[in-house]
Amino acid sequence: MDIRGLTKFSLIDFPGKITCILYVGGCNFRCPYCHNPHLVIDPESQPRLSDSFIFNFLEKRRGKIEGVVISGGEPSMYSALTGFTERIKSLGYFIKLDTNGSNPEVIISIHKNKCLDALGLDYKSIAADYMNLTKSCLEDIADRVQRTILYAIENKIILDVRTTVHKKFHSPEILGRMREELNSLGVTAWTLQQFHAAEVIDDNLSSEPTYSDAELIELARGMGNHTRVRGLKGSFIFDA
Ligand code: SF4
Repeated sequence: MDIRGLTKFSLIDFPGKITCILYVGGCNFRCPYCHNPHLVIDPESQPRLSDSFIFNFLEKRRGKIEGVVISGGEPSMYSALTGFTERIKSLGYFIKLDTNGSNPEVIISIHKNKCLDALGLDYKSIAADYMNLTKSCLEDIADRVQRTILYAIENKIILDVRTTVHKKFHSPEILGRMREELNSLGVTAWTLQQFHAAEVIDDNLSSEPTYSDAELIELARGMGNHTRVRGLKGSFIFDA
């Protein structure tokens, strides 16, 4: 696996579990608000962590951390993911994949291989705007993402659906329509994540106006069905 980063300890990325986070390089999307542009556009700029380094680390941490979150970048792009997750599982860890949902067959295969316990999935926009926002060239991209969500729900995989919100892309009307799409897929909990004005793919975005925390909370409150808001420090600032 092309692992380009490691967070050794996290309490917030897998519900109820102490985890580490591995970051893969590369992604098949180009979301303008992506806060990992170096990983996505120029993964070679980050030192690659070898499998032996990672599994050495995981061996030593057994009993101290419970799970491994594989994030990115986009992990489902890698054919090596199957063997990688098998090896992590053999050490007794829970596994969560953070994915953009573009490769449902990969997610299904890893789950059928009993190497997937939880999914974090970014729902980017309404289906009709998916190609435009993500810059994906796949015409069925929204369908792929929705298939990933449906599979997770049908198979009772722990599912964390979230959206990084910026006013430029997510008007109140768009957010309302996204809530309706998620409702129709059977998603209840949906997290609106506050945009972090740091280094992002679209440099101009950080200087453009977006919602305050209070405005985001007001929007979430109006949408119901367990729509919640995560602030910049990573914790929930509104949980319906
Ligand atoms: S899918 Fe995630 S990692 Fe890929 S460009 Fe979008 S925000 Fe960045």
